[in-house]
Amino acid sequence: MTTTDREVEKRLREKDIRYTTGRRAVVAILAGLGGPRSAAELHGEVGASVPLSSLYRSLTVLEEAGVVEPHFGAKGITRYELAEWLKGHHHHLICIDCGSVEDIELPKKFEKQVHSLVDQVGSIASFKPINHALEIEGLCRSCV
Ligand SMILES: [Zn+2]
Ligand SMILES: [Zn+2]
Repeated sequence: MTTTDREVEKRLREKDIRYTTGRRAVVAILAGLGGPRSAAELHGEVGASVPLSSLYRSLTVLEEAGVVEPHFGAKGITRYELAEWLKGHHHHLICIDCGSVEDIELPKKFEKQVHSLVDQVGSIASFKPINHALEIEGLCRSCV
């Protein structure tokens, strides 16, 4: 059992939600990915053993429990990933050609600069930033 599994199990137990085999499979797949994926893409990874309808239900339950977070992309596609408290703070690289979304974790030095920029932006608008996520749009490796 991985640390992620233990943390998810604890969170679900607190909420009286069973950590079923199907939910475990979804968490395991999400934990191994480098970015958010749509339900259809995830279905391709879990295989036919988990019907799409039950995959959707698992995602809904895990999202309500705060284990999974949705990422709302262009063209109305919702992609899912593990929440930051499980996965760590990161940003997104979004390909405007193929639509792929990849995670990027910044080196401490850059993250500090982003933090300070976000604070400055907040102060212009009398807004107190608590968290942030950069979405960088461009062309991915395969689409350049
Ligand atoms: Zn691309
Ligand atoms: Zn992400």
